[in-house]
Amino acid sequence: MSDKIKELAFQIESDIINIRRQIHKNPELALHEFETAKLVSKKLNELGFEVTENVGITGVVGLLRGKGPGRTVAIRADMDALPIQEQTDLEFRSVNDNVMHACGHDAHTAILLGAATILSKIKDSIKGNVKFIFQPSEESGIGGATEMIEEGVLENPKVDSVLGLHVSSLIPWGKIGYREGAINSSAAGFEIEIIGKGGHGSAPHEAIDAIIIASEVVQALQTISSSKIDPRETFVLTVGTINGGCAANVIADRVSLTGTIRYFNPEIISKVGDIFGNIIKYITAAYGATYNFKFRPGIGSVINDSKTVNIVANAAIEIVGVQNVLIVPQSLGSEDFAAFALRVPSAFINLGVGFDNKENYPGHHPKFDIDEKALPIGAAVLANSAIKFLNN
Ligand code: MN
Repeated sequence: MSDKIKELAFQIESDIINIRRQIHKNPELALHEFETAKLVSKKLNELGFEVTENVGITGVVGLLRGKGPGRTVAIRADMDALPIQEQTDLEFRSVNDNVMHACGHDAHTAILLGAATILSKIKDSIKGNVKFIFQPSEESGIGGATEMIEEGVLENPKVDSVLGLHVSSLIPWGKIGYREGAINSSAAGFEIEIIGKGGHGSAPHEAIDAIIIASEVVQALQTISSSKIDPRETFVLTVGTINGGCAANVIADRVSLTGTIRYFNPEIISKVGDIFGNIIKYITAAYGATYNFKFRPGIGSVINDSKTVNIVANAAIEIVGVQNVLIVPQSLGSEDFAAFALRVPSAFINLGVGFDNKENYPGHHPKFDIDEKALPIGAAVLANSAIKFLNN
């Protein structure tokens, strides 16, 4: 069966590439994936699947019922783009200002449509069901996965397992990366607003300078990892934005900060919220300032179920050969696929999309691109994984 799947994948290679290019050229931000969702549901309808639209606002679900009874495996792709101005010179580069598929979700969507096409052609040999989940809003922090789960995507028929992949430009095309257990970290987010008192730049004693306080808060937050966290644990804190002030000779009354924390162990983060709160409370108090503070723990790490991920790794070996299936290190990129993996035994793998012959840029870079030769491979690996899961 894996040879047949591979053959079918290469037959539709140009279709998968064209879909990826069409989506890449017309990227849509989280929860605005209207045209992408239309394209997806049109294609799923053409394949004769049961299609449900508007799941989690713009999500689309396709259901393929196989010939015999059996379990239900879901495969998930995310559809949203990022607020980045594309800097590639691709002929199909983004036509939308400041919106770009810089994380490869265009590829994920095209690959899953490819897998759906392959599986539709062999549906008479499928025992059980395959559910195709096209998810909105992976990037926004709002959590398209959670939204779709709350709207019942894992029910009716009940999903036994969810499979998914993410492209990686750091892995050469033709290779697949996987690991048992945690593969992607959890991401917590925070927002801080420091409220001082404005004034003339020449008279700091009559004002409360929010910039001085914010500087101290940033420094203090960076000492959390060196003073409060077990050094054997993964913990990364980044203050990503800092905004305040309006003129060189005016003391800023307000500064806002936002940032992210990456971690695997959920016990760490329950502790960190309080430490954060204390740092901000006591530093602002020392200066007579006040503050607003929001702390949002992550939804969790992506934890691969050992049995499921080994089914997928074996399915990948049948497509690309054992020498091209690697165990990869954990990533501190977060993924809301975690929401699925927390509920049912799941597997999330990396699809190598790195070029052999030109510079590779990481995800979220304005020059990010993928070697499209990886697209039919991704489709074949997902289709073969679904078959192997249902026949296991
Ligand atoms: Mn992504």
